Amino acid sequence: MKPSLVETLEPRLAPLDLDHRLLLVREFIPGRIVFTTSFGIEDQLIAHSIFTQGLDIDVATIDTGRLFPETYELWERTEARYARRIRAAYPQAAPLEALIEEQGINGFYKSIEARKACCHVRKVEPLSRLLAGVSAWVTGLRADQSDARGDVALIAFDAAHKLLKLNPLADYSRDAVVAAVEEFSVPINDLHAKGFLSIGCAPCTRAVLPGESERAGRWWWEEDNKKECGLHVGEDGVLRRGPPPHEARQ
Ligand code: SF4
Repeated sequence: MKPSLVETLEPRLAPLDLDHRLLLVREFIPGRIVFTTSFGIEDQLIAHSIFTQGLDIDVATIDTGRLFPETYELWERTEARYARRIRAAYPQAAPLEALIEEQGINGFYKSIEARKACCHVRKVEPLSRLLAGVSAWVTGLRADQSDARGDVALIAFDAAHKLLKLNPLADYSRDAVVAAVEEFSVPINDLHAKGFLSIGCAPCTRAVLPGESERAGRWWWEEDNKKECGLHVGEDGVLRRGPPPHEARQ
C-alpha cells in the first residue's frame, strides 16, 4: 500500500465522523482491512460502526491468555449483540512454553525486558499474523489517552507492518466516545465502571485514580515513557508519530 495515500486521504477523513471515515476508507482502499480490538470502549464503538454498517472490514482480537474474565464475557456479549464472530489470534505454543520456562508464570514483573518479552510472545507475534497481507489496519487509538499517544494521527503509513494504519478516533475525546456509546447502547466492559479506563491483560492493568492519565493503569510499575506494549511502535521500538491531530471532538 502506497504511503502517498496518507496525504490523499487525511484531508478527506478529517471533517468526517466515525461512520463516514470507515466508509471512506473501505471504499478507497482495495484489499483486506483488519480492525484489531481489545474490547476497550473505543474499540467497542468502532466495532459497532463496522457491524451496523455491514462494512467489509475483518474484526479480530488477540487472546493473550491473560485477559480479565470481564473481557471474555464482553467478547461473547458483543458477538451475540451483532451476530458476528470476532476472529482470534493466539500466542504460539512453543515460544510461550519457552517463555514461561525461562521467566516463570508472572515473570513480566521482574524487568522491562521480561515484560517486553512476554508482550512479544503474547501480543506482537500474534498481531503480525493477523496483519499479514493486509492493506490497512484500523485501531482505537486516541491522541489524548496519554502523552506517548499525543501525536497519533488519523491515518499514517506503518513502516513496521508496511500498511496504512487508520485511527478513526484519533481526535475524539473520551467524553465524546462515552456519549456515543451511551447513545447507541454499545456493550462495554463492566470494569470501566470500577475505574479501569484502559484495559489489557489482568496482571498488568489496574484501576486509575481521578486525574490520572487513562494509560496510568497499564504496567504501572514502569516509567511512563516505556509503557507501550509493542503493538503500536515502529521497527526501532519508538512510538510512531504522525501529523498533529485535529482539535479534539467534544
Ligand atoms: S500485558 Fe502483561 S501479561 Fe499481557 S502480554 Fe504484556 S506483559 Fe504479558
